[in-house]
Amino acid sequence: MHNVTLIPGDGIGPSIAEATRRIIEASGVKVNWEIQEAGLGAIDKYKDPLPQQVLDSIIKNKVALKGPLTTPVGTGFRSVNVALRKEFDLYINLRPAKSMAGVKSQFKDVDLIVFRENTEEFYAGIEHYIDTRKSAAETIGVVTRSGSERIVRAAFEYAQKHRRKKVTIVHKANIMKFTGGLFLDVGKKVAEEFMHIECNDRIIDNMAMQLVMNPHQFDVIVTTNLFGDILSDLCSGLVGGLGLAPGANIGYDVAIFEAVHGSAPDIAGKNLANPCAMTLAGAMMLDHLGETEAAERIRWAVREVLKEGKKVTRDLNPEHHVGTTEMADAIEEKIQSD
Ligand code: NAD
Repeated sequence: MHNVTLIPGDGIGPSIAEATRRIIEASGVKVNWEIQEAGLGAIDKYKDPLPQQVLDSIIKNKVALKGPLTTPVGTGFRSVNVALRKEFDLYINLRPAKSMAGVKSQFKDVDLIVFRENTEEFYAGIEHYIDTRKSAAETIGVVTRSGSERIVRAAFEYAQKHRRKKVTIVHKANIMKFTGGLFLDVGKKVAEEFMHIECNDRIIDNMAMQLVMNPHQFDVIVTTNLFGDILSDLCSGLVGGLGLAPGANIGYDVAIFEAVHGSAPDIAGKNLANPCAMTLAGAMMLDHLGETEAAERIRWAVREVLKEGKKVTRDLNPEHHVGTTEMADAIEEKIQSD
């Protein structure tokens, strides 16, 4: 029995979290879910978007599965997602993007892994207006040698373990000579320890263009926080969109698994959300818990349902689609028929 903190989240979160929970249970893995409320719901109840009991539960269980949490844009409370990553020093944000049969997309056979630094730079919350008239604002992005080294090392170690051939370091060292320069410099030094893995680097703007022109030239990508956030959404778009993109936030002691996407307020409460991104994040969590066979069964069931294309959500087939619940039912049935 595994003890896991489950944060359903808000917007489309509760529906895809519920879908994921029952798909994991159908895989036969026994989980004791400790359900915790964070975000908008927690503000209503506890006047705090990240109550202490959520942190205590994660400290105890060390593993959490999290639905998306809304962050007010330009005002209001700071991101709970970012707060969790900082609180538990979840310095690795691992976001795979892989083509799947049956999913309409510009390219076939894309297989990318984005390693995004998850605790530093422009997400550290060091920002203010320079005067009371708000005539200008500053956000300070701190990039450290140790923070850069550990994320680049994580990317190379992943490449080594999973027999990937190339790591691309993405930066803006031509303009941000200090922060970008430091990241690239550290990255190149780490690369020297992994001479059997090809390493190159790209400036972020060129990288964005090359990814949409020819994603097959890339393999593992490692970059700083903001670029990684943007590039991982871009990579999800190469393989069918955010509805299929899972992610993991990993630290030394704690790991939190979630979809790449947000709370999608435009489709919340309508049974339209694709449950696959969070379900695939659930499979990554099972890998982390050592339940690799169940994780593989879940990935297989998702792939089969996508390949058949009959019971998929609107984002995948705008003309003939089913709801979140029905797509989750189809995945669950596949697992049970296996
Ligand atoms: P979003 O990822 O929520 O949505 C972007 C677009 O993708 C929308 O059109 C949405 O309908 C679609 N989409 C997303 N997930 C989908 C799914 N599972 N199935 C089908 N379509 C899906 O991004 P946004 O609208 O920019 O952000 C909404 C809120 O989510 C914001 O408050 C933002 O801060 C938050 N957010 C949270 C996380 C997180 O919890 N880790 C990540 C990103 C954004």
